[in-house]
Amino acid sequence: MKGTWFKEFLSMFISAFLNKDHVHKQVPKREPDTDKSAMTSVLVALGTLEEVNVEDKLEEDDKFFYWKKGQLFQLTPYFDTKEFECQCSLETCTDQKISKSLVSRLNLVRMEIKEPLKITSGFRCKEHQQEIRDSGQSTVVAVKTSTHELGEAADVRTENLSHKELLEHLESHFDSIGLANTFYHVDLRTGRRRWNY
Ligand SMILES: [Zn+2]
Ligand SMILES: [Zn+2]
Repeated sequence: MKGTWFKEFLSMFISAFLNKDHVHKQVPKREPDTDKSAMTSVLVALGTLEEVNVEDKLEEDDKFFYWKKGQLFQLTPYFDTKEFECQCSLETCTDQKISKSLVSRLNLVRMEIKEPLKITSGFRCKEHQQEIRDSGQSTVVAVKTSTHELGEAADVRTENLSHKELLEHLESHFDSIGLANTFYHVDLRTGRRRWNY
């Protein structure tokens, strides 16, 4: 239901405000890692950023955000669409989607760790997922449909947190976590699962 997600988002937003020094300001204080997207949002709002059509609208339903590749929208205080876009270079890759619950949980993790949470992979189109499978890169080959294709997964890393510290934070929000040398994979599947790449 829409209400559930909205409540989750609202409580997150309220706690974001409570954690900030400048509670009188309407916009939460920006952290360095979001400066660029904040500036882009301003430029879009002013209509001075040419490559983005200001009439573009972020589509959404109860579970997902939908956008076209290249469209930039702020999804939560810490994350925008660009960070979750498929990283392929295929012309056919236009439709992008990402789970609201996923982004909302990552935003909570980001608030807790108080440092940038880098998304190294978010949504993947079917073709890109196949490219990754064929190249033998870190992925669970046995799984027919990757949770990345469903828009329900992200690979994340931080600069300064130890692997163990980041894992502890991820574990309080995700059941399904894959461990690689340079990143963690998290997805929305329920039931505790851990695996190594
Ligand atoms: Zn793609
Ligand atoms: Zn992954």
